[in-house]
Amino acid sequence: MIGAELHELIDDWLAAADRTPWLRFPPALERRYEADIGPARSRTMMICGLFGFVLAAFIYPAVRDTMPDIAGQCRTLFLFTVVPFGLLLSAAIGLNLRPFFRESLALLANSACICTSAYLEALTRSPHIEFFVAGTTVLMVYSAIGIQLRFRFAACAMVLILLTYGLAMHVRADMSATSQRNLLSMVACTAVYLLLANWRLEREARRGYLNTLREVLQGQDLSVRNLELDALARRDQLTGLANRRAYDAWVLSTWEQQAAHGGRLGLIVIDVDRFKAFNDFYGHAAGDRCLQKIALCLREQLRGTTDLVARLGGEEFAILLPGLDEQLCADIAERMRTAIRLLELPHSGLGPHGLVSISAGVASHPATLEELPSGLFDAADSALYQAKLSGRDRVCVALQVEHETVQAPAE
Ligand code: GH3
Ligand code: MG
Ligand code: MG
Repeated sequence: MIGAELHELIDDWLAAADRTPWLRFPPALERRYEADIGPARSRTMMICGLFGFVLAAFIYPAVRDTMPDIAGQCRTLFLFTVVPFGLLLSAAIGLNLRPFFRESLALLANSACICTSAYLEALTRSPHIEFFVAGTTVLMVYSAIGIQLRFRFAACAMVLILLTYGLAMHVRADMSATSQRNLLSMVACTAVYLLLANWRLEREARRGYLNTLREVLQGQDLSVRNLELDALARRDQLTGLANRRAYDAWVLSTWEQQAAHGGRLGLIVIDVDRFKAFNDFYGHAAGDRCLQKIALCLREQLRGTTDLVARLGGEEFAILLPGLDEQLCADIAERMRTAIRLLELPHSGLGPHGLVSISAGVASHPATLEELPSGLFDAADSALYQAKLSGRDRVCVALQVEHETVQAPAE
């Protein structure tokens, strides 16, 4: 799903959260929610399940004291049925199953505890019925708030508790109908309040998740936009080539990279011949189109993936060739010059059969960390000047590169 759609779903759900009782997200958002929180929820539910068994062991002394007639059965049931079954289910919940199975297994584990304690309640003849109310409340709190079953499943657990306890009391002939009714209404009220708490907890958890997700998505959008802006700031609008800014950054980093392994850096500086006359004859718009064709042609002549062709401004271009010596750079410059001639772009500003041409200056120098790459540009630019002086439409190679040395920082 694309970011904008996700944003819309999030905003819609958050806007409606205070007006509708529904908890579930739209399907696409629900899938993302489960993918994000599912593993952690499985782990937490498994730990809560195991912790529940430890706590249940502490209830046993109270069972033994208040219901001595069923203490033995309680111990046997707990040790040989509830514990192994519950441990198995808790371990399965920890396997990060699909949400429906995860919640169903947790409900099943709770149901096992509920049915066991209702069975014991039906069996005992102990007058300490208040103990069962307390025990039932513990089970309800555990389902709704402890393990925090999803609302639908928590509601199922509450209904099951009410049914099994109603049945357990019904079979106890020693309890009057009035005390059965009073007990059940108390248990029912507790169930309703706990379900309300469960619903609010789930709603807040979902709201919190969406707020966090919205912030994460906004952060992602922002970094994508920053990257786009950065790319835009490094591109020449007319030709799509790297611009002066990108060239400056590239030349420094490439120089350092080459210096690190004793390599060298080659540079070709290109200038279109008599371009002012071209503009004067054909107009500025045609000049722009001509520059675009030249840019494309120069780019097509480059083969190395580490080479860079940039438009420095006006009708000037620079080509950075890491690792290449003067001769190889001159060969490439010559290839470019020929390719531009072969474009056969008419340049009537030069005469009736004039064609667009370029002049190029070439320099190459071993990169060192003690020297700055600015000398390389000056040398290539001087060679370009020589090419212009000696008649244009040609390539000249710089004989020597004079470098500025890196100034040591003042003490
Ligand atoms: P030379 O052979 O000595 O380089 O002659 P030139 O006419 O090319 O040199 P000059 O530097 O005098 O002129 C460069 C011209 O390039 C001037 C300007 O009109 C044109 N120019 C610079 N930038 C652009 C641009 O973005 N689009 C167009 N159409 N023309 C441009
Ligand atoms: Mg120029
Ligand atoms: Mg020019």
